[in-house]
Amino acid sequence: MAIFLHHGDLPESVRFSGSVAVDTETMGLNLQRDRLCLVQLSAGDGDAHLVRIVPGMDAIRLKALFADPTLLKIFHFARFDVAMVARHLGVACAPVYCTKIASKLCRTNTDRHGLKDICRDLLGVELSKEQQTSDWGAESFSAEQQQYAANDVLHLHRLKEKLDALLVREGRAELALACFAFLGTRAALDLAGWAENDIFAH
Ligand code: MN
Repeated sequence: MAIFLHHGDLPESVRFSGSVAVDTETMGLNLQRDRLCLVQLSAGDGDAHLVRIVPGMDAIRLKALFADPTLLKIFHFARFDVAMVARHLGVACAPVYCTKIASKLCRTNTDRHGLKDICRDLLGVELSKEQQTSDWGAESFSAEQQQYAANDVLHLHRLKEKLDALLVREGRAELALACFAFLGTRAALDLAGWAENDIFAH
């Protein structure tokens, strides 16, 4: 297991096929105010690639990865990351899978669907959230920050496997796919000012 840190873009030598686990770290949770600082990627093989977003540097290969229609991007709470990627890299991220939505659809026995919760419940893995609010805008990252950032993508493939089986068991696999397909629109609504105001509500 190794963590690779890249600056500005993904190197040409790093390729993913089929699916890739993705997470992002930002300066904060405000889509309009806060910039994208880091994109984490994993093929589900125990390695993680961290790409530091350098302001003013065009992340051409990263953008191509997000737009690649043959590559499934697996997120936890894709709604935020997809909106961040759209706003700061100017690219529509698709196709996507969201472990949080999957968990909400098939694990109605609990209301705890955080990454920490589902890693513990489904994989028996304890995640630390200690570095969550550290400074992701920095030009270098501590070993603890890099491990934290990597942890957010290292388990998503195995979570997807478990969640897919539960979605089938509960008869909600198709509903999940429809939700995943809508995520781009959900992110666009967030960016357009309908983040809190549910247009489906009465
Ligand atoms: Mn994260």
